Amino acid sequence: MKYDGHTHTEYCPHGIVEDTEQLIQKAIQLGFKEYSITEHAPLPPSITEIAAGEPEMWTTASMDLNDVDNYFKKMEKLRKKYASEIVIHIGFELDYFSEYEAWTTDFLNEYGPLTDDGILSVHFLPGKDGLRGIDYTFEEYQDGICDFYGSFQKAQTLYYQRVLASLQADLGKWKPTRLGHISLCQKFEHFFDEATDYSVKSLTVLDKLLAVVKKENYQLDLNTAGFIKTGYQQSYPQAWILEKASILGIPFIYGSDTHSLETVGQGYAKVEQWLN
Ligand SMILES: [Zn+2]
Ligand SMILES: [Zn+2]
Repeated sequence: MKYDGHTHTEYCPHGIVEDTEQLIQKAIQLGFKEYSITEHAPLPPSITEIAAGEPEMWTTASMDLNDVDNYFKKMEKLRKKYASEIVIHIGFELDYFSEYEAWTTDFLNEYGPLTDDGILSVHFLPGKDGLRGIDYTFEEYQDGICDFYGSFQKAQTLYYQRVLASLQADLGKWKPTRLGHISLCQKFEHFFDEATDYSVKSLTVLDKLLAVVKKENYQLDLNTAGFIKTGYQQSYPQAWILEKASILGIPFIYGSDTHSLETVGQGYAKVEQWLN
């Protein structure tokens, strides 16, 4: 059964969705029977104290806290309207910040009861002057994170350590159990002059991560947005990681990660073989 488990809406400030209804209609046309609406959850308000890099990266990163109620109202309406054609789930793509676990748990305790799916992602890491972005721009990732730690591979290890921390964090009963695009640290790999393959340390953390994913019955977002990123052109995670994960019996859920009408259902055929 065709299922898209990772999609965005008009509530995302860095997307170009006009109306989520158009995306749902297109998904139905493409034969999807199940569809998760997973808008970026609001960031903890006090993140401004440690947010560094371009201010625009932070102001456009997620849905506004004041929009959450309207988000649920609108998406619930669409769920009902299209119920005979497609099963719609509503939730968040939630950012993990080890610095704000208490706030995140409170947020989930308040809104989690309105959700029936979700994704847990890492888009930021501590870096130069504070928290910096992993997938915003090549310059942001290079200057703010890789140069700060000394190399691409050192940043890579830290990224996987933080994804592992997100999995192990106690965020309460509403915590999402699907990890989003777990190789996001590679998004700009082709733009770097230095080594970007996986270091021995990164591989060790990755193997631990996959083992814990399996043990905790988590799922992986098989995210196809990477195919159209010029610095990457693969799925998140890459095929060789999918191979490792499938040997362990980890379930993958397709995620278009669409932020526009044009990219609904993108790359589905390319990853279909991996879907259970
Ligand atoms: Zn986004
Ligand atoms: Zn994401």
